[in-house]
Amino acid sequence: VVIGAGAAGLVTSYIAAAVKAKVTLVEAHKMGGDCLNYGCVPSKALIKSAKLAHQINHAEKYGLETQAAQLSFKKVMERVQHVIREVEPHDSVERYTQLGVDVKQGYAKIISPWQVEINYPDHRKEIVTTRSIVIAAGAAPFIPPLPGLNDVGYYTSDTLWEAFAAMDEMPKRMVVLGGGPIGSELAHAFVRLGAQVMQIQRDERILPREDKEVSEFALQALIADGVSVLTNHVAIRCEMHSDEKNGDKKIIIVEHKGEHKAIEFDALICAVGRQPRLTGFGLEELGIPVNKTVMTNEYLETLFPNIYAAGDVVGPYQFTHVAAHQAWYAAVNALFGKFKKFKVDYRVIPWTTFIDPEVARVGLNELEAKEKNIPYEVTRYGIDDLDRAIADSANLGFIKVLTVPGKDKILGVTIVGEHAGDLLTEFVLAMKWGLGLNKILGTIHTYPTLAESNKYVAGEWKRAHAPKKLLTWIEKYHDWQRG
Ligand SMILES: Cc1cc2nc3c(=O)[nH]c(=O)nc-3n(C[C@H](O)[C@H](O)[C@H](O)COP(=O)(O)OP(=O)(O)OC[C@H]3O[C@@H](n4cnc5c(N)ncnc54)[C@H](O)[C@@H]3O)c2cc1C
Repeated sequence: VVIGAGAAGLVTSYIAAAVKAKVTLVEAHKMGGDCLNYGCVPSKALIKSAKLAHQINHAEKYGLETQAAQLSFKKVMERVQHVIREVEPHDSVERYTQLGVDVKQGYAKIISPWQVEINYPDHRKEIVTTRSIVIAAGAAPFIPPLPGLNDVGYYTSDTLWEAFAAMDEMPKRMVVLGGGPIGSELAHAFVRLGAQVMQIQRDERILPREDKEVSEFALQALIADGVSVLTNHVAIRCEMHSDEKNGDKKIIIVEHKGEHKAIEFDALICAVGRQPRLTGFGLEELGIPVNKTVMTNEYLETLFPNIYAAGDVVGPYQFTHVAAHQAWYAAVNALFGKFKKFKVDYRVIPWTTFIDPEVARVGLNELEAKEKNIPYEVTRYGIDDLDRAIADSANLGFIKVLTVPGKDKILGVTIVGEHAGDLLTEFVLAMKWGLGLNKILGTIHTYPTLAESNKYVAGEWKRAHAPKKLLTWIEKYHDWQRG
């Protein structure tokens, strides 16, 4: 029995059904979970519209004279819903039924290590017995305990898409709480669509998991498009001021270096993290330990060796592709653990923040290498130098590769630039299969493509590691030949 039909639950069920196991997938709400309905899919659809608006507004850069982009907020948000509907069949009950999964649309509760109770919306109950359970219950937006927040009202990734789709006009003044990937993506998209956006971040920088220079690059990109980014600002409380003349005024009070500032807004988006769903479905009763996430061992087993967990509910990364990666381990260990169990391999985990330019990373950055005391060398290539990027007027950003000192073995890569998320894949493959920078350098890359930057960074590494003694001899050889 698999609980939850988001990325983790769907992939677990898919794999289990593919190897002919009998699988019941229970989903309480929407098939596809967060990613399809509230996360990756709607946010990337919105980002595409925002990017197009930005390009139209800067069309003169490409020799085109146009009017400024005319926003139809309703149509943009309708497009987002349309995109969700177009992707929906991939995660649908019909598809999974065809794959051999028994999909049940109800709320699951684990009542014993071998029994799951399903509560249907029409109040029917059913108890299914099972040999193994996979918990894939996901996470929900964290709502900060801000006094007055409920009075002014707020949106989260869970509520934003439908609420905005019902609006005729885009809220003019938006406050985005949070400087992580989700907050930064939303702030960038809405400012490009024409909103006044204030992004409030308590940390001293946005995207704080990335290296400082990467955060700085991202910050400048957001500022250049008009986001007012308030770093080192702590949200203190919200206030609703109502008077007959001016109507309702929504205000958030933030603190910066001991001083309080009042910011007026029309819509507040909370993007301050997502909390695993840990209550209400039997973990407490069974005594399955949780500590912010469901606690598992390296095999994704909980306290009970037949109950596994995968995806956002277990962490440590909250990405669709990591949920899918863990799902393989949960499914295989649950079904075949008697013969052989596999430890989850977290060595090569990529991710991308889809601001513009994109920020993509796999493996270590300098921050983590220093924290873990791992020696490294850094090789950089500036994408401003790349022919294709220049032709596309997208010549900004860089690639930074960390390698083992004196060797071409890749420890981690950060790319900031157009399509960084796609460019990263070559390094993900290289790291996964133990290919070093020499192998990337020895691979033909089509001219002119953005992907050539991967080869060029490898070339920079090679130049820095050229065999100096040998080159001196070769130089002498050439002199001798000329003589
Ligand atoms: C705005 C936003 C943008 C994002 N962008 C990206 C991105 O670009 N790339 C990326 O990789 N990730 C992105 N993510 C993260 C990604 O959406 C999640 O990591 C992913 O959805 C996690 O999948 P999951 O299966 O663990 O959980 P979920 O998708 O949350 O699925 C869990 C499911 O379990 C169901 N459930 C819970 N409890 C029960 C129960 N007791 N009984 C039955 N059903 C239950 C829930 O209804 C839900 O459908 C984004 C997230 C957000 C919010």
